[in-house]
Amino acid sequence: MAPDRSTTPAVTENGSRRWPVALAALAVTATLVIAAVLLRPEESAPTAAPQSPPSAPSLVVGDGRTVTLLSLGGSATDALLDRVAAGLGDATEQVERFWGTDWTREITVVATDSPAQFAGAAPGAPAEMAAVAVADSVDTDRRVASGQRIVLGPGAGRMSDAALRVVLTHELFHYAARADTAPDAPRWITEAVADYLARPAPDATTPPVPAPVALPADSDFESPEPGLSQAYDRAWLFARFVADRHGPAALRELYRRAAGRHMEAVDTVLRDVTGADPGQLLQRWRQWLAEPR
Ligand SMILES: [Zn+2]
Repeated sequence: MAPDRSTTPAVTENGSRRWPVALAALAVTATLVIAAVLLRPEESAPTAAPQSPPSAPSLVVGDGRTVTLLSLGGSATDALLDRVAAGLGDATEQVERFWGTDWTREITVVATDSPAQFAGAAPGAPAEMAAVAVADSVDTDRRVASGQRIVLGPGAGRMSDAALRVVLTHELFHYAARADTAPDAPRWITEAVADYLARPAPDATTPPVPAPVALPADSDFESPEPGLSQAYDRAWLFARFVADRHGPAALRELYRRAAGRHMEAVDTVLRDVTGADPGQLLQRWRQWLAEPR
């Protein structure tokens, strides 16, 4: 089943973002709130700041990664983060199976309850986004991304569990790959792989897409809706095609070489991992798309 694009991330997020001072102050209280929710779900959130320093939430996922959940919207976002806590383990394991385990050990998720909170936590991100993964700074030479966080928009609480799982996995892949992704990496590749990991495989219920006349390109992502959703769909289906025909390792190699810090030419990498030139590849992709599911 294809997820409703309105509940999946429409845009992502490269480059530097600044963590606002105001948010840092909010985050201290927010950590306390969600820690209380996680550890004592039957109790209401505290209304006054406790006297002792905050303790980290006791949530560990995947290969021993520590999760910090920041609830900026009180009970509304506490409930959303409970659902995030329940689904983040599976999302992490999905990312680790594909990408490996050599990525940051800390995962931070911020839930917002208003456009202003979302803008504060994810400056520059379009207000209508369900979620975005941002970082304060990225140093690909040292393989370090600072201030990384997944920020959930004020509408995220209305997502179904299935849609939330897609969004979390998609953003978590960006998060995991951030320190190894060139700031100017081809967007179609970063989105293709994130959606490959996050979305269910296409089946008989997946709406057909028009036979493509070209391989995916970043210019596809410059269109307003519905063109933007179609760009995501095309990139996703191309990633599916590569993984189906050549294996997930080939798709990972495409990402690491064509979107990684040494960014090789996409056509060269595609030829290496598929054995086909762009024209042949387009033909094979069209044939794959036309196969019954
Ligand atoms: Zn994305």
